[in-house]
Amino acid sequence: MKDLVLATNNPHKVEEIRNKLADSLSIKTLNELGCYDDIPETSDTLQGNASQKAHYLYDKYGCNCFADDTGLEVEALNGEPGVYSARYAGFEKDSEANMRKLLANLSGKENRKARFRTVISLIWEGKEYFFEGIVEGTILTEKHGSEGFGYDPIFQPNGYTKSFAELSMEEKNSISHRGRAVEKLLQFFKTNL
Ligand code: IMP
Repeated sequence: MKDLVLATNNPHKVEEIRNKLADSLSIKTLNELGCYDDIPETSDTLQGNASQKAHYLYDKYGCNCFADDTGLEVEALNGEPGVYSARYAGFEKDSEANMRKLLANLSGKENRKARFRTVISLIWEGKEYFFEGIVEGTILTEKHGSEGFGYDPIFQPNGYTKSFAELSMEEKNSISHRGRAVEKLLQFFKTNL
């Protein structure tokens, strides 16, 4: 069975991808590879960051690898926070501060349309492929629910009356940006393995 290294140790991402690919590939995390580096993410686009992370691993270990990057793109804010979603309020991964800042920046604005977008870079047998997943929705005026992470409590996907943080993990994964990008990756492996 061929190895695929994920450029993450995030247990949610690892579980989601392992569940879907375990029959056909041996999935390894960064720690399992023996990589404890702080992998640089210095691009100003999602695709650039995903590619940078995958190339870092490929260049160092020569392995088949996968990296992703996600952003929340808010229409009335010209696509912000976008590639800066994790550190929108200035502190890495302070979700409460990030949501407060976003709600403040949207206050009084009628257009609350937003989307999550994930870009996956896969380097497979030396060649790079990209997969994109998008979920459209709106930014609520206050937080709802306690599941999930990041901006989930203030993002309501189109066609639902609940925020991402009020959906079960299975429900969210079935419609989410990351779920959709991973689905495309699975299709790739169905035809290329
Ligand atoms: P990453 O590229 O997956 O690390 O995502 C970057 C940032 O986007 C995270 O730190 C979160 O703030 C936000 N984000 C990514 N995916 C989600 C999600 O599924 N729900 C809520 N926020 C997310």
